[in-house]
Amino acid sequence: MSRLACEGGRPVRPDFLVFGRPLIGEAEIAEMVDTLRSGWIGFGPKCLRFEQEFAGYVQADYALSVNSATAALHLALLAANVGPGDEVITTPLTFVATANVVTHVGATPVFVDVDPATQNIDPDRIESAVTRRTRAILPVHMAGWPCELDAIGVIAERHGLTVIEDAAHATEAWYRGSKVGSISRFTAFSFYATKNLTTGEGGMLTTDDSTVIDRLRALRLHGLDKDAWKRYSPGGFMPYQALEPGYKYNMTDMQASLGLHQLARLEQSLETRERIWAMYDEAFADLSGVRVRPLPETLGSRHARHLYALELDLDRLECDRARFMSALGSENIGTGIHFVPVHQHQYYRDTYGTRRGDHPHAERIGDRTLSLPLSAGMCEDDARDVIAAVTKVARRYARTVAQVAAWDETAELREAA
Ligand SMILES: *Cc1c(COP(=O)(O)O)cnc(C)c1O
Repeated sequence: MSRLACEGGRPVRPDFLVFGRPLIGEAEIAEMVDTLRSGWIGFGPKCLRFEQEFAGYVQADYALSVNSATAALHLALLAANVGPGDEVITTPLTFVATANVVTHVGATPVFVDVDPATQNIDPDRIESAVTRRTRAILPVHMAGWPCELDAIGVIAERHGLTVIEDAAHATEAWYRGSKVGSISRFTAFSFYATKNLTTGEGGMLTTDDSTVIDRLRALRLHGLDKDAWKRYSPGGFMPYQALEPGYKYNMTDMQASLGLHQLARLEQSLETRERIWAMYDEAFADLSGVRVRPLPETLGSRHARHLYALELDLDRLECDRARFMSALGSENIGTGIHFVPVHQHQYYRDTYGTRRGDHPHAERIGDRTLSLPLSAGMCEDDARDVIAAVTKVARRYARTVAQVAAWDETAELREAA
């Protein structure tokens, strides 16, 4: 067995494979140059075109471009009139932004544990968390697999709650024959650097609710009336009005330049990730010390393949996850943790009294999984490097029957000598 790089051996590859490397094509670069040369680099016509094309892709009535999914979630909560004293039910197994926005509007996040098979909020546990203060349910499509939106929708309807989907991982996902983005009242998408579609930073809020779209457009740009962004256009300076104190949440045409072409290539990028996913599944199926998470399947649903989580079988390893990940880092393979559950973060513990033990399924996943590189910016050789590194590290730290037997044998020889 070759020596680990962290023990003086040679790494599986000479250069670092960064986690979440995006695929930026010539089309994005040309479009960006065109924008830079145009003299209009802020919010403008390319954002509007991106909104239209994105709405078409996810089959939504309206799509509102913003500077992050966090902004999209915040605006959705405001549009749903969630405020101080209210409660919002969400999952602990998510990025902190999902819960942070709930606190931004003065409401309280109420965490409901996940179903370990899907990593998504367990619909069977939601109803017992509903109180007379509950205003919304904020499910997250973890890793790209859609939540049980039918069951969630039934509970929401029964209690008069708004459903706001966090689809940061799930741009390409379908749920039982419907496109994610066209199902609930609000859906938020992320175009952060590591996401399936990236604009560096950016996001989109989709809705079918025509009664709130004008207010959302204003809220995203300082609360100004909706055509205020045209105030420097050829028609001459246009006066504008602040309708309410809004936010600085708009996208720019530079970001949309990337988004337009990332969107055009999205299905192809998904195919690339599906191929890498299959390579990983096959390579790790019989590797001791790691467990492949079976891909959930539902008729008419599609997994958006954002994160490939490898579960460590810590009982069969003589190292912990931190050591495993740093050994992979020394082999020049970047990894991630998704996620440290939100209720375990200091602010949430201090503010809401949440603690370890509250949500055992989320904690177990948070403790034992690591995410391997999975992005359209990778080639198959990159995936083979990941496989070689994981195999090397798992074998080095594996407690196998053979290893134990070999150890017994050397002990006997030592004794005999
Ligand atoms: C990335 C992410 C967000 C935040 O997205 P931004 O665009 O960075 O604001 C929210 N929720 C989840 C689950 C995420 O992974």
